[in-house]
Amino acid sequence: MNKASNLTDTHAHLDFFGSDQAVEKVISRALMNRVNRTITIADRLESSYRAVELAQKFDSVYAAVGIHPHDAKTVGPNTIKELKELAKSPKVVAIGEIGLDYYRDHSPRPVQQKVFAQLLGLANELELPVVVHDRDADKDVIRIIAEQGIKKGVFHCFSGNVSLAETVLSMNFYISIAGPITFKNSGNLVDVAKFVPLTKLLLETDSPYLTPHPYRGRKNEPAYVRFIAERIADIKGVDISVVEASTQENVSLLFSIPK
Ligand SMILES: [Zn+2]
Repeated sequence: MNKASNLTDTHAHLDFFGSDQAVEKVISRALMNRVNRTITIADRLESSYRAVELAQKFDSVYAAVGIHPHDAKTVGPNTIKELKELAKSPKVVAIGEIGLDYYRDHSPRPVQQKVFAQLLGLANELELPVVVHDRDADKDVIRIIAEQGIKKGVFHCFSGNVSLAETVLSMNFYISIAGPITFKNSGNLVDVAKFVPLTKLLLETDSPYLTPHPYRGRKNEPAYVRFIAERIADIKGVDISVVEASTQENVSLLFSIPK
């Protein structure tokens, strides 16, 4: 089997699957589908600990640590310190997910902005890329990233239009596409997938959410990242092996993970 014909799920929440045994099953199904790397993403301090633990347990799992904007209000004086310690673990490849969410507003906006800036600062200090969540907050997300001088990262589960994609690319960030690209009403996303060069695209499931077609309604898992790769190959009119090779290369470059 060609080594380049593997895929990486760059954004899964493996902590949502429960016990080590349950995660092991999910990971082995991913491997059977040639998803040879999964980055498990944290949204709180507890899931940051769990992400690091899972990365230590499973060879194909890497971790990101961070605080989701929903939980910005839970950040206390020691949270950043604890994250910093955790981030030094060898399989931590990013700070995330972090960002702003003005759609749900689970934390007050000024608090979200302050915590986002702090976590970007941490990424800078540790020279790690960032995994950004942006929902209805484009302007502030872009401004704060610029203020913090961040040059390495990805906008995860991209849902913006081509003009936002253009801005993101000009910041030298990657764009990650999730399951909605496989939906009938994928709207802007098809244009975005056409527009963004393969050298700047990443793939993700955001599992357990956003299950791609044809498994909508089931619980999502990293193995299904293949449907997203197939859809992108289709949109771009290239062979799936081309999507595989370039996204694998992008993952290695951004997250410094060996292929
Ligand atoms: Zn996520």
